Amino acid sequence: QARRLEGIDKNIWVEFVKLAATYSTVNLGQGFPDFPPPDFLKEAFMRALSGENHMLHQYTRAFGHLPLVKILAQFLGKLLGRDVDPMTNVMVTVGAYQALFCCFQAFVDEGDEVIIIEPFFDCYEVMVKMAGGLPVFVPLRPKFPKDGKLMSSADWQLDPDELASKFSERTKAIILNSPNNPLGKVFSQGELELIADLCVKHDVLCISDEVYEWLVYDGKEHIRIASLRGMWDRTVTIGSAGKTFSATGWKVGWTVGPNRLLQHLRTVHQNSVYHCATVAQEAVAQSFQRELELFGKPESYFVQLPKELQQKRDWLVQRMDAVGMKPIVPEGTYFLVADISEFKSDVTDVPDSDEPYDSRFAKWMVKNKGLATIPLSSFYCGAHKNKYNHFIRFCFAKEEATLKAANDILQKWK
Ligand code: PMP
Ligand code: GLN
Repeated sequence: QARRLEGIDKNIWVEFVKLAATYSTVNLGQGFPDFPPPDFLKEAFMRALSGENHMLHQYTRAFGHLPLVKILAQFLGKLLGRDVDPMTNVMVTVGAYQALFCCFQAFVDEGDEVIIIEPFFDCYEVMVKMAGGLPVFVPLRPKFPKDGKLMSSADWQLDPDELASKFSERTKAIILNSPNNPLGKVFSQGELELIADLCVKHDVLCISDEVYEWLVYDGKEHIRIASLRGMWDRTVTIGSAGKTFSATGWKVGWTVGPNRLLQHLRTVHQNSVYHCATVAQEAVAQSFQRELELFGKPESYFVQLPKELQQKRDWLVQRMDAVGMKPIVPEGTYFLVADISEFKSDVTDVPDSDEPYDSRFAKWMVKNKGLATIPLSSFYCGAHKNKYNHFIRFCFAKEEATLKAANDILQKWK
């Protein structure tokens, strides 16, 4: 075994997907929709698969099928308010996962520090380590609202001085994830400016994971850090068709950024994966074409999906509040984190166990109640897991019947 694999053999998704498959009747764990993706996406795939153009079954351009990089450049150029060149500023990857992997391999040297905001999507830490880098963690600090109001993901904030103290001459990059998995936090303009100013001041790169860019609620705006002053040149923005079009199994992702950075991602990509499935890229390209034509209109999927998800969120928030599992209302994503500290269970305390309470609770719940979730401590580094050990994450991108079944379990708890 190579040394870089030491201590990273466990994976929360592998573990909890297995538990869910074995015990759950209702699965709100791993993040994926259980409703179908839109018809236009499936139809585009069928056309690509069985149409006249049999070249769609063969290799395509390494850095992205031409129709896809062209439409992504057009779409993202519009959103970023700048010219984006399809050939040099966009690269298609096998899901956002591979985009992240390319970034860490391309930019992080032995001993380089990478700042990670906690709670974080778990693979950031291990990917930094695999590249030989050192993760440096900075937490979002919760401010519990008084006056009995529900907590919002906006109540989890960076302490500006604490964040600034993490930047040094060893810092190579910061990884930002807005909207954030697991909390659903959508970083505000002010918060993004704080991060951007520090990146510029210390000449640090920003890897911006924006896979939930379309899933933003209550009229909030998703702001792209690459559009802030001084940031285009130092930011790689990452997206995912899996999240964008509710088809997580497709594994089509992308990176957008300046050529000076993308050229290094291309080096990693061409020597490891080479390219992502051609038919899937073609179908995603056609689906973006549709969305560009319908941009901002009520028929747009990017308008409809968040509207539907917001209703699901509101319903689940209200049902959880009714049983005393205190929800943190997410501003974005399809995840909802809830406080379980006042929720009764028969989870026995294991005095010498390092395993955080939320993890034991989530395992107990799937085994005894059939409801699968993910413990929040999975999104913290080892040293901090026990500080945030009384929250669990629910995925609400689910059919009404699935959410009702989850609610039944919660209401009939005792
Ligand atoms: N980033 C975040 C924040 C995620 O939640 C996920 C999980 N889907 C990914 C990246 C990976 O995305 P993909 O499925 O496109 O590889
Ligand atoms: N991104 C998904 C989540 O947060 C799952 C990722 C995975 O299964 N590896 O639930």
